[in-house]
Amino acid sequence: MQVFLTESKGWGLRCEVALPPRYYLGLYAGRLYDAETLEAIENAKPHGAQSAYIWELDEIEGDSEGQGLLLDAEEEGNFTRFFNHSCDASVTAVTIIRRDLEGFENKKVPLIGFVTNRSIPAGEELTLNYRGRDVSLAQEDVSAWASECRCEAWNCLGRLKHC
Ligand SMILES: [Zn+2]
Repeated sequence: MQVFLTESKGWGLRCEVALPPRYYLGLYAGRLYDAETLEAIENAKPHGAQSAYIWELDEIEGDSEGQGLLLDAEEEGNFTRFFNHSCDASVTAVTIIRRDLEGFENKKVPLIGFVTNRSIPAGEELTLNYRGRDVSLAQEDVSAWASECRCEAWNCLGRLKHC
């Protein structure tokens, strides 16, 4: 896996070899917090210094144990924090449940793993759809979203919710 400087989107990710579909790439790594703790940490930072690498973990249906957990990859993380957004993403985020994490023993923690969703030629940027899989676009006012999308995909919506 290679972190490289893209033309217009900052750092991005690519692989030197071609990847098959449904290929597991790795886990989103970061410091694991409950919502309250992370909010206190972020509020203590000066304005504008908040982490851009926070991932809110999925809730496990019918189970409140892993509820409200977040991963912050700002201080500690791995290559997966460099996925750029694309409206036609080549990688999908999946939930992987662990029960043996230090500090969270006997709790189900819903971590995030990344899997290719098609064949990807060597050197092509690996991208993720930041909007996730649950957002119903019909109910969203895309024009109000915060920033311009520069993914250049055929189905680009033109806007992104977050930078
Ligand atoms: Zn786009």
